Amino acid sequence: MVVVLKENPDREQLSNLAEWLESLGLSIHKSEGAHHTLLGLVGDTSQVDMELLRALDIVDDVKRIQEPYKSANRKFHPADTVVEIGGIKLGGGNFQYIAGPCSVESKEQICEVARSVKAAGAALLRGGAFKPRTSPYAFQGLRGDGIELLLEAKKETGMPIVSEAMDPSQLPLFEDVDVIQIGARNMQNFELLKEVGHLRKPVLLKRGLANTLQELLMSAEYIMAGGNEQVILCERGIRTFETATRNTLDLSAIPVLRSMTHLPIVVDPSHACGIARMVLPMAMAAAACGADGLMIEVHNDPKRALCDGAQSLTPDAFADVVKHVDAILPHAYGRA
Ligand code: PEP
Ligand code: MN
Repeated sequence: MVVVLKENPDREQLSNLAEWLESLGLSIHKSEGAHHTLLGLVGDTSQVDMELLRALDIVDDVKRIQEPYKSANRKFHPADTVVEIGGIKLGGGNFQYIAGPCSVESKEQICEVARSVKAAGAALLRGGAFKPRTSPYAFQGLRGDGIELLLEAKKETGMPIVSEAMDPSQLPLFEDVDVIQIGARNMQNFELLKEVGHLRKPVLLKRGLANTLQELLMSAEYIMAGGNEQVILCERGIRTFETATRNTLDLSAIPVLRSMTHLPIVVDPSHACGIARMVLPMAMAAAACGADGLMIEVHNDPKRALCDGAQSLTPDAFADVVKHVDAILPHAYGRA
């Protein structure tokens, strides 16, 4: 980190600043130019509050040379992380499809969808039991019963399951869930991130509706700081001024994250678009950009779905997505 001082800084304020920085365990390399003096801070600057420094009278600007995320940083871990989920590898060249309904509705529904997406090529089954709905009057999910039904579908098909936890108090119910999803609305629920950081099971972390990629990585860092290194990142569209789609799928997030981090990157075109017919082109585009997997909402009867029917694919449409995406994979960025 480099601190740029204003011209002729007050000597006493400067010595107070130096004393404070040294008390944080940092060493200071001072270089005096014609107009400005620079302080190069060497050591672990992850605890330094940049805004606090910038607000000081004698400070003109502060620049971070090193990113504030360490565990997630590719600089310190050049090889791609491969996350293993019940014998299935995701990341580092292992592309996977995660498919299933927005929410678990009944045993028949989840088992039928599980069988059909498995037959089409999905490795993992998704299904929401705890649903973060904008309206308190909308279907909130079957909660604990939904997890039970997912476990039945897992038993019947052998597919590992992915489901969203919204609060640390729900985690005991997730013991047999293979991947815990942290939804977009909870990307910065720091207490929840810390709790899943104490677990030793994969976490699928979705990007918040209005969060930067650095913020996404800082949230991954919360999980990894607890010792849980099995984090899968998920780009699911962000809020922009455009209203033609539910969100705007930020495909540039894939190559950008690829250089920032070693963690696998999955794309969810369903929540990004909100419209079923747009899922195929955006899934193909995400695969072409080098995503490590796709998370796609599939329902056996989308018109009657209790949640997100408009963006849900029929099992046949999902099979078509797999066919088109599989054809692109050998030519995808980073693979070809
Ligand atoms: C979901 O995957 O069902 C979901 C609610 O997604 P998001 O958190 O991305 O909105
Ligand atoms: Mn949904």
